[in-house]
Amino acid sequence: MRSSWILTLLILVGLVLGTIAGQLLYDPEFNLSQPDSEHAHTTALAVFDFLGNTIFMGLLKMMIIPLVATSVVVGVTSVGDFRKLGKIGGWTLVYYVSTMLIAVTLGLCLVTAFKPGAKIDEQRRAEAEVGFSQDTDKVEALTAKQQEGLMGAVRGLVSQIIPLNIVAAAAKGQPLPIIFFSIFFGVVVTMIGPRNRIIIDFFNATFEVLMKMVHAVIWLAPVGVFALLAWTVARIGLSVFASAISTYMFVVLLGLGIHGLIVLPLILKLFAKVGPDGSTNPYRFMKQMRQAIMTAIGTDSSSATLPVTMECATEIGGVSKQSAGFVLPLGSTINMDGTALYEAVAVVFLAQAYGMQLGVATLVLIAITATLAAVGAAGIPSAGLVTMVIVLDAVNSNVIANDPTVSPIPVAAIGLIIGVDRILDMFRTAVNVWGDAVGAKIIDRFCT
Ligand code: ASP
Repeated sequence: MRSSWILTLLILVGLVLGTIAGQLLYDPEFNLSQPDSEHAHTTALAVFDFLGNTIFMGLLKMMIIPLVATSVVVGVTSVGDFRKLGKIGGWTLVYYVSTMLIAVTLGLCLVTAFKPGAKIDEQRRAEAEVGFSQDTDKVEALTAKQQEGLMGAVRGLVSQIIPLNIVAAAAKGQPLPIIFFSIFFGVVVTMIGPRNRIIIDFFNATFEVLMKMVHAVIWLAPVGVFALLAWTVARIGLSVFASAISTYMFVVLLGLGIHGLIVLPLILKLFAKVGPDGSTNPYRFMKQMRQAIMTAIGTDSSSATLPVTMECATEIGGVSKQSAGFVLPLGSTINMDGTALYEAVAVVFLAQAYGMQLGVATLVLIAITATLAAVGAAGIPSAGLVTMVIVLDAVNSNVIANDPTVSPIPVAAIGLIIGVDRILDMFRTAVNVWGDAVGAKIIDRFCT
């Protein structure tokens, strides 16, 4: 227990020092005062990228597919009973959808109340559109998503679930097909009688080994999050918090804060089983999940954080292997409260900035499409920004269908918020991961 607190402290120090180092690197005055500053700047960025993305993220990502496969099989086979499994699956989906809808509604109320987009003028919009067109990678990704449309995204998600080739899916690092295959596999394992012992023992032992490997990798988290934070902040700078879109950032962060610190703990308190020590304090569980939450802030990725989430939930948070094995892997790719809230706020912000009036029906449409777009977003950095174009398109079509004289919000409007996306991604990923953990704790009550 003591080593867990030492590690927490070290990760926290990593987060703070990474932010400071990144800001110093970003700060032009500091940079210009150094001789050969451009070279030093590039080298420092490359070192941070190597330590954070190549080493730390690489080690976490390396664990994802084996961990997803074994944890799901362990979860399913330890539940055993097919009917019970159906009940767990059903309640898990109810939990995912309802918490995402609550998050979206909260975001819509806040963005409507604060109206952050009203402050954006013509010149700022034009600059953002020009800036956006120069970001070719993003333009490509967003255009592809836009062409896919809402139905295309849903179809893509469903077709991804059933893999044509399970080995190819694993090689591409796609968790959803592996989850589907592992559930199916696990269910059939429970049906073959006593001969299944060897398979169950194998998966349980492999899961244990993988968790020990994760335990070792977690000790790199302080350096990993330091490097990732420095790498991110050095390219964006903290001055964005005082920029023209600071109110927009404030609304997103306020919504994420309310959802993560009040709504989810309240849901946990109301629906989770009382702990073995009689404790019902939801913040105690949040404390137990702290390393996962901080890793999410550092990595911007629910999927890369999954090994740490698994470790915290089962080893410290007392979540059973059954519910962790089922709820966490699935949640890391489809349950995204933070992303859903963010997408709704962002689209309404852009509508306000472009003077588009949104009626109640359009707001309801945003709530639904933002939830679907968040489900469709992968657990990787900036996925929410890309799937947001689906919500934007739905709003444009809906508003124009009612009034053809209205001009649509251009995709290039995303240029207004692209610069701060990575910073907001840290916090929405933290909420996504925390939402998964709360779900696993709640679903635990159906496992025993
Ligand atoms: N980065 C987020 C996650 O991995 C997804 C997003 O971009 O919103 O959970």
